[in-house]
Amino acid sequence: MKTINIFGSTGSIGKNALDVIRRNKKNFEVLGLCAHSNTDTLCAQIKEFSPSYVCVVDEKSAEEVRHLTKKIKLFKGENGLRDFASVDCDTSLMAISGISALRPLMINIEHAKKIALANKESIVTAGNFVLSKAKKFKTKILPVDSEINALYQFFALKNNFSKVYLTASGGALFNYKPKDLKKVRAETVLSHPTWRMGRRITIDSATLVNKGFEVIEAHYFFNLPYENIGIVVHRESTVHAFAEFADKTLFACMYPPDMRMPISFALNYPKRIDALKASNFKGRLSLSFQPLKRGQFPLLDIILKAALRKDNSLVILNGCDEVAVEHFLSGKIKFTDIYKAMNYIFSHYKSAKLKTLDDVFYWDAYAKEKTKEYLRAL
Ligand code: NDP
Ligand code: MG
Repeated sequence: MKTINIFGSTGSIGKNALDVIRRNKKNFEVLGLCAHSNTDTLCAQIKEFSPSYVCVVDEKSAEEVRHLTKKIKLFKGENGLRDFASVDCDTSLMAISGISALRPLMINIEHAKKIALANKESIVTAGNFVLSKAKKFKTKILPVDSEINALYQFFALKNNFSKVYLTASGGALFNYKPKDLKKVRAETVLSHPTWRMGRRITIDSATLVNKGFEVIEAHYFFNLPYENIGIVVHRESTVHAFAEFADKTLFACMYPPDMRMPISFALNYPKRIDALKASNFKGRLSLSFQPLKRGQFPLLDIILKAALRKDNSLVILNGCDEVAVEHFLSGKIKFTDIYKAMNYIFSHYKSAKLKTLDDVFYWDAYAKEKTKEYLRAL
């Protein structure tokens, strides 16, 4: 039985992970659960999984779970999150969204034997810091993001690949003409054709910022040069990635678009457990692939350009996107204003090297402030 701590248990990935655990009760003991402020969902999870530790980052909301935590250690606030991240365990799932995952992740690397990493912003903004610390502490980091998880599955076969292709569903607006994007509503963008995910990543899937982030994840996790990471449009999301081996044979990793699959792989690794008896390929075996048209997704182009710069630009763009997407979701700006903000910030930022983790947080705060200013003035 392995002890597990879940960061972001009330989110889309967190809930899927708890379902994987619910179906494998004999393999896991839920040691800790952590959320920001969704105490309704958290209370139900505490009752079902009886953790020993609970963390609620929003201090006011923490009081709403206190009645359930008589025998449980309750952590609250940002300091509480640091303490929660310092609890020793066999496995952690890092499924906090956004750059907020970075600090607890860096601490947790010292305390977990293995981390299933769903959060991608930590790799996009601080890939070198995260992976070198994991190496130093001999903490295994397994990617949960389905495309990168698929590549990890090839990697685990110990057969070297030098080139990969990530698949992209194209998101909710794939067939929209640029002139129709201005009027698009949040509900439309949130209705992803194949995946059910959290709100920000669903919007990022429509702009393909998300695919850009995955290219960066692939670069860091497998040490691949950017020119060897391709993207193929695959509307069905059944093939998650292709790996090209030395003899040019292409391997495809397939499973239904259900995040419980890569979560189960990452949590159970190196074992494979049939976690989802209900999942199958019914109706999903008619597959199509097409090249991605360059220029169709300008934000993907910006992210890929930034990735080559090896400076603070990805931190800047992630911060900008985090703010712009939040503004779009709360109805303050149009969908196309996300593009405008990213373009503006990318053409006006000051390039700097990231020497320490503090630099990452400095440029993140800078980008968020500049983006808010820009959006206010629109
Ligand atoms: P959600 O928005 O659904 O969930 C986010 C979770 O993080 C919630 O539990 C939320 O708590 C918690 N949280 C948010 N901010 C903070 C904070 N400052 N401190 C502590 N906890 C916080 O996101 P997803 O589950 O969709 O995504 C999580 C991560 O996984 C993201 O980085 C995403 O890019 C990545 N990912 C997600 C995929 C998916 O299918 N959903 C696929 C691949 C990667 P509360 O509910 O209380 O607000
Ligand atoms: Mg993905």
